Amino acid sequence: VLRIEGLHKSFAELEVLKGIDLSVDKGETVVLLGASGSGKSTLLRCVNFMEIPTSGRIHLEGKAIGSARNGRIAYGERELTQLRSRVGMVFQHFNLFPHMTALENVMEGPRTVLKCDASECRRRGEKYLDKVGLGWKADAYPAQLSGGQQQRIAIARALAMEPEIMLFDEATSALDPELVGEVLETMKELAEEGMTMLIVTHELGFAYTVADKVLFLSEGSILEQGTPAEVLTYPRQDATKNFLRGHN
Ligand code: ATP
Ligand code: MG
Repeated sequence: VLRIEGLHKSFAELEVLKGIDLSVDKGETVVLLGASGSGKSTLLRCVNFMEIPTSGRIHLEGKAIGSARNGRIAYGERELTQLRSRVGMVFQHFNLFPHMTALENVMEGPRTVLKCDASECRRRGEKYLDKVGLGWKADAYPAQLSGGQQQRIAIARALAMEPEIMLFDEATSALDPELVGEVLETMKELAEEGMTMLIVTHELGFAYTVADKVLFLSEGSILEQGTPAEVLTYPRQDATKNFLRGHN
């Protein structure tokens, strides 16, 4: 579904991504690990052009959705919005609209970006709230929900766009420990249903059981990749071993 080729990203002098090649096949769950500052968030942000790559190509469903050179891409705002709607993204901080109910939050993307009609917006809102197990909270406002529930609403909001791939950037790291499990469980169910996902997480147990493939990013390059057992149990690189030691 997603193929990234030769992705470079620099901020002024600082080269953050040094030629990333990576692909996520349909239905696959790929987990990206790496120390703080290794470039994980920058990589995800480049996939939906929240950051413009310095150079490289990104293909979605086999179609080149963007190829950058010298930090420029040939897109206008409208095309970028279109393109971003095909990539669902869930962040550490969920940023739900506080003045909207759970259902309204989930319906907002289909309504404003996809311009779905009212019945389709409602159908999607209810469907994806149910999918994350929160249909019963449709009329609650974010402030009335736990952090874990808010993050599940944020997942439903991304799903309601019916994206081709979902990206998660440390979706559980801002949560109280007792709320992490329900969000990981929701992500695991999505993986089992065949959603295509690229996930940044420090939850190694989750990576071990859910990932089809694990990548270890170090200083802007993919240092090691393989099955969860290959990377997490029998890492070959010292940097990977050190990282894992710090996360057990
Ligand atoms: P963490 O685990 O802490 O979230 P990360 O792997 O997600 O780290 P990034 O956020 O991608 O790392 O940052 C990689 C490097 O790029 C860091 O050195 C960071 O300071 C730098 N960086 C990120 N965004 C910008 C920006 N907008 N301008 C300048 N430097 C940036
Ligand atoms: Mg990050």
